[in-house]
Amino acid sequence: MPRQLDPATREALLARVRFYRDLGLTEFYRRPVDNLNLGGPGLDLETWESNEPQPHTPEESPIAPRKPFPAAPQIAAETLPANRASALQIIRDEIGDCTRCALHAGRNKLVYGDGNPAARLMFVGEGPGADEDAQGIPFVGRAGQLLNNMIAAMGLQRQDVYIANIVKCRPPGNRTPEPDEANTCSPFLFRQIDVVRPEALVALGATAATYLLGQRQPLAGLRGRVHSFRGTKLIVTYHPAFLLRDPRQKKEAWADLQIAMRELGLKPPAKA
Ligand code: SF4
Repeated sequence: MPRQLDPATREALLARVRFYRDLGLTEFYRRPVDNLNLGGPGLDLETWESNEPQPHTPEESPIAPRKPFPAAPQIAAETLPANRASALQIIRDEIGDCTRCALHAGRNKLVYGDGNPAARLMFVGEGPGADEDAQGIPFVGRAGQLLNNMIAAMGLQRQDVYIANIVKCRPPGNRTPEPDEANTCSPFLFRQIDVVRPEALVALGATAATYLLGQRQPLAGLRGRVHSFRGTKLIVTYHPAFLLRDPRQKKEAWADLQIAMRELGLKPPAKA
């Protein structure tokens, strides 16, 4: 009879498995990132730290969807309001008090999106955590503070970019969204992308990359190059929550952000 693990041990083991998955160790190799100026000017890796003393257990499982990705509904250009904020509000109104997937059951606040409706750069994460669920705003917890620091290292402010997630309601216990949940919710994200029309997208973590690219691959195989999400440049990097668990990977994340900066023609701010 298999030995039953106590909940704490089981959670610790699951966290360790996620950790290795985050590292792309499902295939026991990591693809090197070539020709990148790691730790370039303007970056103070120490500023990427957050002192907020709260636990966070993100999920970045590269679980593949069990059914084909649905085609993202397009908003016909002639029906788009001239004002992108209004267009985003139309989508928000359509989502309403959503019960389209099981995640609605544990939700306090639906986390729609945040930032500049005409942003040149958009970040996509996995789903809300406890802080986001409480406030209804993406990336406001400890990982959010780190994301803010990453944005600042790029010479931008949070209000310059747009931020959203694959799913808009918090998965219980911060687990990875199930494929049916992600497939049900992500078309709303795709419509937000259609409205914002960023010049570049940054997928934060394996789940965001999986659902934006429509394919499952270890994160290590996706980083370090430019992909396309329906014609928009897409760069894949680590989820900030993973970087909190393993700060050694910040240099690699910075290399990914430098790719996005290069595509946008951005220069890092001069150090004071
Ligand atoms: Fe609706 Fe998305 Fe929330 Fe599911 S996660 S209930 S699809 S808003």
